[in-house]
Amino acid sequence: MKFSPIISVILILSASLNAMAPKEREQVRQSWIARAELLQNSALQQPEVEPSEHVPFQQNCHICHLEKDVRDFRTLECGHDFCCECLMNIIYTAICNESTAQLQCPNEQCANPISNQDIRIITNNDGCILDAIDCIRNKEWIRKHTKPCPKCGVNIEKNGGCDYIDCANCKHGFCFNCYGSHHVSGCTQPTVNPLS
Ligand SMILES: [Zn+2]
Ligand SMILES: [Zn+2]
Ligand SMILES: [Zn+2]
Ligand SMILES: [Zn+2]
Repeated sequence: MKFSPIISVILILSASLNAMAPKEREQVRQSWIARAELLQNSALQQPEVEPSEHVPFQQNCHICHLEKDVRDFRTLECGHDFCCECLMNIIYTAICNESTAQLQCPNEQCANPISNQDIRIITNNDGCILDAIDCIRNKEWIRKHTKPCPKCGVNIEKNGGCDYIDCANCKHGFCFNCYGSHHVSGCTQPTVNPLS
C-alpha cells in the first residue's frame, strides 16, 4: 500500500503516541491534526503536477456525447476519433444489415469509409468481425460486378467493354446491360439488375 507523505507522517507519529500518557497524547495528537490540515490545504492550493503534465484524461465523444477516458477512443484513418463503443455499434450495425454502406466516419463532412485497418484497430484484431465484414464486402462486390445468367442462373462477371457476353456455363449469349439477346453492342435499353 502506498500512502501520501502526510498520511505516512501521521502513521509514524501515531506509533510513538501510544507510549505517552492519555492527556499528553491527546494534546500532541490535536496539534498534529492541525498541522496535517495545514499541509493538506497548502497541497490543495499548489498542485503537485507540473502544468505540462496536465493531459486531458477525459474526452467528449461526438456520437454519444459522453465524457470518456481517452484510452476508450479510437482514431480512424481520416483522423477523426470516437469512443470505442460507438465505433463498435457502427460495425455491428453493418454486420446486422449485411451492408457496408454506413461503414463510414460518423463525421458528416468526412464520411470516409472505415477500412479493414480501422476495423482491426477498433476491434483489437477480432478475426470473427473482420471475416464477417470481408464476407459482406465480397457479396457487395459480386452484387455490383456480376449478374446471374438469365438462362442457367450462374453468376457472370463482366470483363471488357462489350455488353454482349456468352455464359461460360451454358453458352447462352445475352446483353449484360438489359438482359436482351438481340443486339451485339451499344445497348440503349434500361439497365436490368436482378440482384438489387
Ligand atoms: Zn461514443
Ligand atoms: Zn472522418
Ligand atoms: Zn448460363
Ligand atoms: Zn442490351
